[in-house]
Amino acid sequence: MPENKPKKPIIYYYAVVMLILILMNLFMLPQIRQAQIVETTYNVFIKEIENDEIDQVEVQSNQILFQKKNDETVFRTGKMNDPDLTARLLEHDVKFKADIIEQTSPWISLLVSWLFPIMIATILLRVLMNRGAGSGGNPFNLGKSNARVYQGSEQPIRFKDVAGEDEAKENLQEIVTYLHDPSKYQTIGATMPKGILLVGPPGTGKTMLAKAVAGESNVPFFSISGSEFVEMFVGMGASKVRDLFKTAKEKAPCIVFIDEIDAIGGKRNTGALSGANDEREQTLNQLLTEMDGFEGNNGVVILAATNRPESLDAALLRPGRFDRRVPVELPDLKGREEILRVHAKKVKTSNDIDYNVIARMASGASGAELANIVNEAALRAVRENRSTVTQKDMEESIEVVFAGYQKKNAILTDAEKLRVSYHEVGHALVAALQTDSAPVQKITIIPRTSGALGYTMQVEEGNHYLYTKEELENRIATLTGGRAAEEVKFGTISTGASNDIEQATKVARAMISMYGMSDDFDMVAMASINNRYLGDDVSLACSDRTAAAIDARVVRLVRTQHEKARKLLEDHKDDLDRISRYLYEKETITGEEFMNILHKKEEDDNTVPFIQA
Ligand code: ADP
Repeated sequence: MPENKPKKPIIYYYAVVMLILILMNLFMLPQIRQAQIVETTYNVFIKEIENDEIDQVEVQSNQILFQKKNDETVFRTGKMNDPDLTARLLEHDVKFKADIIEQTSPWISLLVSWLFPIMIATILLRVLMNRGAGSGGNPFNLGKSNARVYQGSEQPIRFKDVAGEDEAKENLQEIVTYLHDPSKYQTIGATMPKGILLVGPPGTGKTMLAKAVAGESNVPFFSISGSEFVEMFVGMGASKVRDLFKTAKEKAPCIVFIDEIDAIGGKRNTGALSGANDEREQTLNQLLTEMDGFEGNNGVVILAATNRPESLDAALLRPGRFDRRVPVELPDLKGREEILRVHAKKVKTSNDIDYNVIARMASGASGAELANIVNEAALRAVRENRSTVTQKDMEESIEVVFAGYQKKNAILTDAEKLRVSYHEVGHALVAALQTDSAPVQKITIIPRTSGALGYTMQVEEGNHYLYTKEELENRIATLTGGRAAEEVKFGTISTGASNDIEQATKVARAMISMYGMSDDFDMVAMASINNRYLGDDVSLACSDRTAAAIDARVVRLVRTQHEKARKLLEDHKDDLDRISRYLYEKETITGEEFMNILHKKEEDDNTVPFIQA
């Protein structure tokens, strides 16, 4: 949950600015004035009177101030016991004045004492307001909603632009029908939900879907992010909400889209220390009030998106507010293929691209990542001076998106390179030797900017919604395969397995604490997922003793699979050697090559390069 700093009322900032103004007048201005006075000697003063150079003079109790003809500068000299002075001044027609300083430069004086401070104060306020108004905020728009409005844009986003997500589109189609003809619903007395919550992981097309609803309905689309409501000044967020709804009602029928609604709609603080969140709560309250205030049929539809639905305040979810929830999930295989095709239409592609293969390689990718993969592929084609994007570009860009760019300057020693080869082949071989494991797509030992020294890309054949206990065990075995290969070959281990260890532990822990896959705990949940959309946010829900028992079982499970992997590799040491040395030479091999070497061992035995390391 975003932490909100305590907000200070705007009057606080005005008070600060006024204080600065007063202090400047008190302390700084006399000095500024002093700075305009030029010191001189009494001799020079007398001489200048004699030469008729002096225009006016102010004789004070301890000093004499004077100005010369046609000169704004004020000169000062000490006062002497000079009884002839008055006669001398009269003789030379010098004017006697009081307040010589004030009169000398009224404009400068005005400027210095008021205009400058006011300018500084204004600049200061601008900076403060700009910060508060968020990105692109206009300082004079404080309290205005600054929602971006898309109205009748030339190329509106349509449902067909959003690939996959069929269930979500079907669900939202009803809103489109309603916005086309609200009267149809009014006649029968049906009310549209006022708010619809799009929930799903980041980058799955929630914003796109909301825009598509507007595009299909041909109505204005107001878009604002929840975090933009949260202002520097207390009360400003609420006034932004008011302003947004006022404008929306004027423009109805229209769509208001609030992205990241959790920034304002998070659970309210019930504790005593709620002061820090005053601004956010006021904003949320205002949103609730506005939603209650308008009739369901006035043509304003509010769509909101979040990837933390569980953190939303219950008040926001009750009927009459965001009472419809549309899940926008990560795309499945078919969805990924469609998304790739939609984005590939925007670039020039060669005819050889097999989108199905790429979609299988990009398992687990979100729509945004797939869009990025296509773009990276296009950039690669440009870098290599080609005019079309090829299959290879796409495959390489998947690696770029998931593992980072190739690290050109990472020089591994031969020994390291050989160890990485064995490590990666260890994973692949264990995967291939276990019947249920997904086949290997590619193995490489070219270091990546992500820090990986090599990796084995496994590809799922189709969509996988369920995993059996055996499949998960095999996965752990595959993850331990890298370390096992190092042990089998070198008898020593290295740091290269840290990521494998992390993943294997995660799978093992989930099997025991969440999937009920251990005999000892039967079907008792000992951990719960806090956020299904944001990775591995899991919390334990058991006693300390049980937690310790879980840990022990996790270790046992991983150890068993590790031993299984080691045994498999010992039994296939020849395969491990041959393929590892082949990979060492080639640096990258495809899954097909891997399988060929594995299966055609007898015939190809002497063709496989052999290097002494
Ligand atoms: P979210 O709001 O869920 O975080 P966005 O709607 O902002 O995600 O998606 C980001 C980008 O990802 C989009 O601009 C689009 O290029 C791409 N994208 C995501 N999902 C899809 C999809 N289903 N079809 C086509 N493009 C998609």
